Amino acid sequence: MEENKIALITGATRGIGKQIAITLAENGFDIAINYRKENEDLENTKKEIEKIGRKCVAVKGDVSSYEDCENFVKEVIAQYGKIDVLVNNAGITKDTLLMRMKKEDFEDVLNVNLVGTFNVTKNVIPYMMKERNGRIINISSVVGIAGNAGQTNYSASKAGIIGFTKSLAKEVASRNILVNAVAPGFIETNMTDVLKDEIKENIAKNIPLKRMGNAKDVANLVNFLASNESSYITGQVINVDGGMLM
Ligand code: NDP
Repeated sequence: MEENKIALITGATRGIGKQIAITLAENGFDIAINYRKENEDLENTKKEIEKIGRKCVAVKGDVSSYEDCENFVKEVIAQYGKIDVLVNNAGITKDTLLMRMKKEDFEDVLNVNLVGTFNVTKNVIPYMMKERNGRIINISSVVGIAGNAGQTNYSASKAGIIGFTKSLAKEVASRNILVNAVAPGFIETNMTDVLKDEIKENIAKNIPLKRMGNAKDVANLVNFLASNESSYITGQVINVDGGMLM
């Protein structure tokens, strides 16, 4: 169990981010999450974390807005005084073939996934530098490594996150700040719910472990990277994909 540690997880109102927040709370972290709209999902996440016996601070802000990130990071610091772990998880897809892709589809996905990761990290890092301690875990994707037809925008954003991760890891290692990326394969969440059952079955058939992953599979790795057990690991991209990419 970790003690007196604070984790900020973006995009934790549902899906993988929510499970990461719950798993870190179970491991002793107090939690901060951001949200765009007050809704049932947000309330459920807060309730589930508080049921574990940990604090949950929820701050309003869209990760694609630098100003929002500046404000919500300041608010988390005002409430907790520090951030030990940042998980850049918020992400969207707007899939279509490049021939049909609008300029906005490309820009929106880059702005949330990649620029959003920059916006939050840029505002958190000064506090980690001051503490000479920190963990940053960026949620990339296997398609950021392998590519995927219909996802030029998404895979560019996720490949960008990998470059960002490795460069930052080199910049801040001397301050004991470790920066890693997690690359999930196909994970059952709202994001993949849009796929037809037939497509999902086909995907599962081609995964060596013969199933889609779940949010807990990803959260367990993030929890390890956030913990004291991973203190000699930085600048890495670790897949959680049932063996899809080897
Ligand atoms: P979901 O769509 O289930 O959840 C996405 C979360 O991100 C929601 O909490 C959403 O909040 C939040 N979010 C989206 N846009 C913004 C924004 N502009 N500002 C703040 N928060 C935002 O997705 P998953 O849980 O499946 O995905 C989580 C991460 O994992 C993403 O980065 C995704 O790319 C990555 N991933 C997912 C895979 C999968 O198979 N599911 C595979 C590989 C990577 P709101 O409720 O406001 O919309």
